[in-house]
Amino acid sequence: MSITANSGEEWLARLYCEPKAFWHCTRQLDGSGPYTFADINLPVNWLKAVANYTEQEPSAAARQLHRSVEAARAEFRAKQEKIYGERTLYVISRSREAIYLKEDAAWNTFNAQKQAFLRDYLKAIATGIVRRKRTGRKCKQCNAARVTGRARYCDSCAKQRQRDSLRTSMNRKRQNRLLSDISSPLEVVSVKGLTGALIPKNSVLATTIPEKVF
Ligand SMILES: [Zn+2]
Repeated sequence: MSITANSGEEWLARLYCEPKAFWHCTRQLDGSGPYTFADINLPVNWLKAVANYTEQEPSAAARQLHRSVEAARAEFRAKQEKIYGERTLYVISRSREAIYLKEDAAWNTFNAQKQAFLRDYLKAIATGIVRRKRTGRKCKQCNAARVTGRARYCDSCAKQRQRDSLRTSMNRKRQNRLLSDISSPLEVVSVKGLTGALIPKNSVLATTIPEKVF
C-alpha cells in the first residue's frame, strides 16, 4: 500500500473536501466508468470510487482522509438532527431564520474540518508521513485544525464566528429599534396625560392660587 498518491487521487481528494454536498465531488465520475449510483452518491463508497478512478489502491493518506471526513460528517448530521429533530414543522416555519443560522454554523464547521483534513492529506502525500493523530492544540470550534500561539480558533472558524456575532448584534439592534418604535408613542401619550391631569393649564387653580400656598 502506497502513501504517495497519484494526481488522480489528489484531484478527487480536493473535490471531496470542497464546501459542497458529497455528490458534487464525485459527479465528474458519473457515466465515465464502472460507477454505480451508490458509488457516486454515498460518502461511504468514496475510497471505492477513488480506487476505480485511479485503478490503484487508495493511499494510506486517502484512507485517513476518508476516516476523518466521515467522522466529521457524522458530527454534522447529529447536529442537524438536533436542530430540526425536536421541532414541529410549525415551529420550524416560525423560527426559520434562527434554525438556518444554527444549521449554517454547523455546515461551516464541517467545511472548516474538511479543509483541515485536506491540508493533512496534502502534507502526508508530500512528505510520505501519515500522522495518526493531530498533535498540539486544536481549534475550539471545529476541533480539527491546529491552532498556534494564543489563538483559540482556526482562521476559517474565527472568520465565521466574526460574521455570526456581527449578524447577531445587528439582529439585536434591529429588535431594539422595533421595540422602541412600539413603546415611545405610548410613553409620550402617557406623560402628557399625567402632567395634564396634575395641573390643567387654564384651570382656576393654576392661575389664581399663589405659589406660597404650597
Ligand atoms: Zn476551526
